[in-house]
Amino acid sequence: MLEEIKQLLILQNLDQQILAIREELKLYRPQLENLKQKVQEKKEQVDGLSHSGTSSLKERRRMEAEIADKESLIQKYQRQQMEVKTNREYQAITTEIGNVRTQIEALEDQVLAILTQEDEQKQQLDQCKEELTRIEAETTRERLRIEAIIEERKTRLDKLKKERKTCLTQLTTEVREIYDRIVDRYVGSVVVQVINGSCGGCYMQLLPQLLVEVHQGRKIKRCSRCMRVLISEEAPRSP
Ligand SMILES: [Zn+2]
Repeated sequence: MLEEIKQLLILQNLDQQILAIREELKLYRPQLENLKQKVQEKKEQVDGLSHSGTSSLKERRRMEAEIADKESLIQKYQRQQMEVKTNREYQAITTEIGNVRTQIEALEDQVLAILTQEDEQKQQLDQCKEELTRIEAETTRERLRIEAIIEERKTRLDKLKKERKTCLTQLTTEVREIYDRIVDRYVGSVVVQVINGSCGGCYMQLLPQLLVEVHQGRKIKRCSRCMRVLISEEAPRSP
């Protein structure tokens, strides 16, 4: 095989590896994003539960203050009752005290219901916080694992890029020009094998004369349609 083609195959092999790593690296970004999202969702759930805990506590405090007010009101009525002159006035205040007591009882029932609800919410919140701690630990482990892989791939990528640069300097100007012209379009498949008399890149049937010349392998031969460099069917694909 022509030395130049051998070098092109080395270059192509490097390009294929670089391409594969780049594709692989693309997959990690959404994975990392997913991990972040998972933690974020749990945090929002914890925040939501803490918030509703706070507002129900406020509501309970408000009711407790109202009960205290109503109790002082009863005491005030009781003091008034001792000073009244008529039985009718006395009865009127007794009725009023009874009304306020009924209101207090209703409020106490509501406070009790809120307390029960608060207990449930607190249990939910504790459970949610535990889950958050677990998820954070899990996602941190996974993130570190992925980041280590990314780091390793990037190191390999740098090494391959350097090798590629060296490889490019070893090509003759003519081959380098051919390569530069078509590499962007056909990265990873600049050099292709002939398959059943057709170009292995674009599958166009090749002329018999061209097939003979490719087989002889004395000069670089290219497909007239896609311009890829051709190697014969028997030639090994990679160096
Ligand atoms: Zn072709």
